[in-house]
Amino acid sequence: MHIVVVDPSRVVLKVISGLLTPRGHTVDTFTDSREALDFVTDNASVTTLITSLEVRPLSGLELCWSARLLADAHRPLYIITMSSARNARNLAEALDSGSDDFIDKPPGPEELYARLRAAERMTGMQRELIRLAEADALTGLLNRRAFLQRVGEVADRAGAHGRLSMVMVDIDQFKAINDQHGHEVGDTAIRGVAAELLTEAGGIAGRVGGEEFALALPGRNLEEAEAAAGRLRLRCTQLRFKGQRGPVQLTASFGVSTWSEGETVGGLLKRADIALYEAKSTGRNRVVSAATDLILARAG
Ligand code: GH3
Ligand code: MG
Ligand code: MG
Repeated sequence: MHIVVVDPSRVVLKVISGLLTPRGHTVDTFTDSREALDFVTDNASVTTLITSLEVRPLSGLELCWSARLLADAHRPLYIITMSSARNARNLAEALDSGSDDFIDKPPGPEELYARLRAAERMTGMQRELIRLAEADALTGLLNRRAFLQRVGEVADRAGAHGRLSMVMVDIDQFKAINDQHGHEVGDTAIRGVAAELLTEAGGIAGRVGGEEFALALPGRNLEEAEAAAGRLRLRCTQLRFKGQRGPVQLTASFGVSTWSEGETVGGLLKRADIALYEAKSTGRNRVVSAATDLILARAG
């Protein structure tokens, strides 16, 4: 596990990391609780925070609160507080502040290992629940809600001048594949297209409807996203699935948009969807880009 330990004493930090590092844990230690919080915020790989109650400038309880807010529904984080003064009040305050467990300081090796085994069980379970809540069961891609959430986070991080493009994909005449070859072959086709979306490096792929997908491309402009959509379009035409009456082929249509200042992720997706609709109505198996003047028209 990746563990952060916070204590005012370098000696205590050294003792604890000396116990944990040989057991294969990655340990980062801090005497400053604010620096520790910044580190935990920036490093999603941290799954366990062990903090003394007696730290500064944030008190141990404040650190617990802030860390607990970080560990929302999308991130497992187990928090253990420690104090040399174990009393009922300390214990209750720590647990009420978001701590999951409480140990004496300095902790004995056997107790520390046992507490960390509990942390490992808990964060492993949380990780699995998060995965199940975010993944689409058929394809393993993000489901619609998780996709929008993830892209929203990326857009927030990119800021006002960041680049972000969106590709919407819809399999053409998919109902006919189901009708002619059965639902199972249809499912295989959906999985096949989903697998192609994962080949775009750095992309965030989601299944946003039955046979509809969205691919967000952080850092890419409209031309780059069009090129990615073009590659995907071609690869979709090359897919082959075993059907009841011979090999099944398919095509897909694509709508592309790029983010403009002031736009929401929902707006970006909507414009890609409008472009996709145009690709459908002008013959399918095509890539169509959304006009940016759609946003200007609405704003003006
Ligand atoms: P278009 O080219 O205009 O997109 O036509 P289409 O037939 O692909 O679109 P339409 O929206 O008429 O049909 C989509 C079909 O996808 C209808 C639905 O039964 C099927 N579908 C939705 N989810 C699944 C799924 O999980 N598995 C399978 N096999 N079919 C699904
Ligand atoms: Mg379709
Ligand atoms: Mg559709």
